[in-house]
Parts: sequence; structure tokens; C-alpha cells
Amino acid sequence: MKRDCGNCDGKCCRYVALEIDKPTDLEDFENIKWYVCHENVNVFVDIDGKWFIEFLTPCEFLGRNNECNIYDKRPKICREYSQEDCLFHNDDYGEKYTFKIVKDVEDYIKNNLKNENKS
Ligand code: SF4
Ligand code: SF4
Repeated sequence: MKRDCGNCDGKCCRYVALEIDKPTDLEDFENIKWYVCHENVNVFVDIDGKWFIEFLTPCEFLGRNNECNIYDKRPKICREYSQEDCLFHNDDYGEKYTFKIVKDVEDYIKNNLKNENKS
């Protein structure tokens, strides 16, 4: 079944994001650096301050016209995803920080961990 998603290219079907613990010290940030060293892996902080690792990879069931090829059997998380609240339609869905490369993490450390013990 085709969704009425206008010009969107199926953004919600092109990634997997998992919540991770908020890094609190430099050792934790070493892990964040390691994550973002990998191609198509980002870390982001949402507007609620929750930290996520994100894998930019399309779902195997995303059709050529951005339709879901298993619509009637799609996973629960897909069924519960509301188009009205989705990434494309909702400005509030924005990300507070996005880390795509190691320098993004280093800049964040410089600006946010000034008073931490940097080793
Ligand atoms: S639900 Fe939203 S993010 Fe997903 S394809 Fe439709 S418009 Fe795009
Ligand atoms: S199962 Fe369907 S709705 Fe869910 S991510 Fe894949 S293509 Fe999108």
C-alpha cells in the first residue's frame, strides 16, 4: 500500500536508531567517536536530551516508490509510527546535536566538558 507522504523519500524507513546511555566522561566519548568512525553511523541527541545511535540503512522492504512491501505485516514499531508526528511533517522532531564525524564529537567535548578533567 502506498502512503500519502508527498515528496518525502521514505525517511522513516531508511534508518534504525537505538537509545544509548548519555556519555558522561571522556571514556564514554571515546565510544561515541568509535561509533561515528563508521560509515553511515551517526549519534544524535533529540530535543528531550536522549542520546541515540543511528544506522542509516534502508529497510529491505522499502519499495522503489517508497511504499512498504509488507504493509499488512509490518512490524509494530512501523504500525505505531504516526505520519502526523513524523520527521518530515513535524518541526519539533528535530535533533539537538548530531555527530557525524569524530570532529563533531571533539567540538562537543570542547564546548560542553570544559570543566571536566581532560586527560
Ligand atoms: S511517514 Fe513521514 S517520514 Fe515516513 S515516509 Fe511518510 S512523510 Fe516520510
Ligand atoms: S517494514 Fe515497511 S514501514 Fe516498516 S520500515 Fe520497512 S518499509 Fe518501512
